[in-house]
Amino acid sequence: MPTDSYIKVNDDYISYPLEHFCIPKHYEDDLEAIMLPWGLIQDRIERLARDIFQDVKDQPLTAVCILKGGYRFFTDLLDKVTALNRSHGQVSVPITIDFIRLKSYSNDSSTGDIEVIGGDSLSSLKGRNVLVVEDIIDTGRTMTSLLALLQKHNPASVRVASLLIKRRSDQPIRYRPDYCGFEIPDRFVVGYALDYNEYFRDLNHICVINDNGKEKYKQ
Ligand code: 5GP
Repeated sequence: MPTDSYIKVNDDYISYPLEHFCIPKHYEDDLEAIMLPWGLIQDRIERLARDIFQDVKDQPLTAVCILKGGYRFFTDLLDKVTALNRSHGQVSVPITIDFIRLKSYSNDSSTGDIEVIGGDSLSSLKGRNVLVVEDIIDTGRTMTSLLALLQKHNPASVRVASLLIKRRSDQPIRYRPDYCGFEIPDRFVVGYALDYNEYFRDLNHICVINDNGKEKYKQ
């Protein structure tokens, strides 16, 4: 994917103060600021859906959601692709869905390993055009391991859509997905199904967690 085809949030980006948007009371003291408001996320996903729709055309697609963090991006993305299916009379993408659950993090640092802890049998992906839908790519280790695993089951093709990719301060971006919403600075973000030890999935906006939040919800 060319780097100019996704939105880059600069390191000195202007964040949105919490008081300018609606935040659940139970998280008010746990967040530094809003990085990506929900409405902006939706608008960006609308465009990703159009790009995917145009690339896939009439071929059947198996969309694989990476649980749990990818579930909101997955549902919003598929809602938008299926809206295109309804409105484009001549072309439509037949979609089946699948779910994979992986665990790669404890607190906010990468362990480097992925553990598959649920989902349907990957053998059903044989011969399918697969779209993996992920919340965020950080080091890229999780996605690289998952793609190697998927290839063992002989899919016809595999594309990856990630809502976010992180620009790490300690290494260049090593893996770039086929479709990406936003390249973000090296901050730990929560909300829109991205969690910190299972908290913050019930927050609409993508926000930067503060020290208080990390302390309060640490394992
Ligand atoms: P990677 O293997 O690319 O380093 O890590 C990818 C996974 O780490 C994501 O699927 C996500 O679960 C987790 N992750 C990485 N950065 C963040 C972040 O800023 N916030 C949250 N909530 N999870 C993250």
